[in-house]
Amino acid sequence: MQLSPRDEEFRQRVRQWLTENLTGRFAALRGAGGPGREHEAHEERLAWNRHLAAAGWTCLGWPAEHGGHDATLAQQVIFYEEYARSGAPARVGYLGEELLGPTLIAFGTPEQQRRFLPAIAAVQELWCQGYSEPGAGSDLAAVATTAALDGDRWVITGQKVWTSLAAEADWCFVLARTQPGSRRSAGLSYLLVPMRQNGITVRPIRQLTGTAEFNEVFFDGARTERDLVVGEIGDGWRVARATLGIERGVATLGQQIGFERELSRLVELARRTGADTDPLLRGKLARAWIGLEVMRAHALRTVAADPATATGAEPSVLKLLWSRWHQELGELAMEVHGASAMVARGAPYDLDDWQRLFLFSRADTIYGGSDEIQRTIIAERALGLPRQARP
Ligand SMILES: Cc1cc2nc3c(=O)[nH]c(=O)nc-3n(C[C@H](O)[C@H](O)[C@H](O)COP(=O)(O)OP(=O)(O)OC[C@H]3O[C@@H](n4cnc5c(N)ncnc54)[C@H](O)[C@@H]3O)c2cc1C
Repeated sequence: MQLSPRDEEFRQRVRQWLTENLTGRFAALRGAGGPGREHEAHEERLAWNRHLAAAGWTCLGWPAEHGGHDATLAQQVIFYEEYARSGAPARVGYLGEELLGPTLIAFGTPEQQRRFLPAIAAVQELWCQGYSEPGAGSDLAAVATTAALDGDRWVITGQKVWTSLAAEADWCFVLARTQPGSRRSAGLSYLLVPMRQNGITVRPIRQLTGTAEFNEVFFDGARTERDLVVGEIGDGWRVARATLGIERGVATLGQQIGFERELSRLVELARRTGADTDPLLRGKLARAWIGLEVMRAHALRTVAADPATATGAEPSVLKLLWSRWHQELGELAMEVHGASAMVARGAPYDLDDWQRLFLFSRADTIYGGSDEIQRTIIAERALGLPRQARP
């Protein structure tokens, strides 16, 4: 991607702002909230995110009329790169900013946009994504949670699962069946539901890392207002798919700078432990570096590609590249550590960053569409193989 002098000036501005602001009470947040560390310093990270918002560093790519900054693709890439490079903490409002916000801009009513977008941009309201259910994961069209109108409110009954950050969220975008007796993708609607109410119970699910990034969410007569349906009633599948398809390529480039930091920390660890003289581990470290270069080249090509010539499989290729790469990095970290990697730092389950990364990265090949599903998309869209039989 070709950067203009204005882009370089923008980079300097982002870098300087981050250097000047990741100080004082925010200095301790560097690196906080990463994989398996999402429990860390939530309130402080929220304050940091609001500080970012007040300075105009959230929702860069959104149109200015919706509270964004009309940033170019290059500027967004630069921001994510500099953000990751600075070590600033994982952001708490990304589900609203990256998934729901763009969906509301595309499908929301002017009232919904006015009601929700400013609060997302200011990080005043946090969102979670209520898609998956015990019987509907990869096969999302099997959603069984129902919503029925009772006067001017929807009454929602059912269960969602693996809902990231539900315990912290103020609102949830919920895919629910609003047409009784409907099947598969017909009869679903996309509802905006307040989380803090009696009809909702959130039960954290303890993960391998010992922490609970995701949750079970039970809707037992939960309520939301009649006009909080995004898109038409019964047309929720189209809206839900649009949310899933929202290009995350730009944020992925920032994620790769984070990966680069992890890899260079691992190389340092190998130097300290003497693993840098082991020919097998040296080979694996070199392969990890190559993998990162391949991923970066692919991501840059994807975000800069002409949509007219794209197959539609590019995001799936990227997902496969990064999920496998990151899992292998976790495994390599355990090898570099040696036998001590198997022991917690302290009782009862105090893990170090590498152990957390290794354990949390098992999820990388599942969330955001599992590896098997991505390969099916590649087979069908890039190779033109026959469509897999759907249930
Ligand atoms: C860390 C994490 C965070 C998550 N956060 C959220 C969230 O915030 N909100 C939300 O709604 N969901 C969330 N999820 C859920 C995630 O989207 C699902 O786990 C994922 O879609 C897979 O669904 P499943 O777990 O039901 O597995 P299943 O769909 O039951 O799949 C089980 C296995 O079978 C394979 N499989 C399934 N169908 C096929 C097929 N057609 N062809 C070949 N293989 C197949 C899968 O690849 C997988 O290996 C999260 C998951 C994780 C791990």
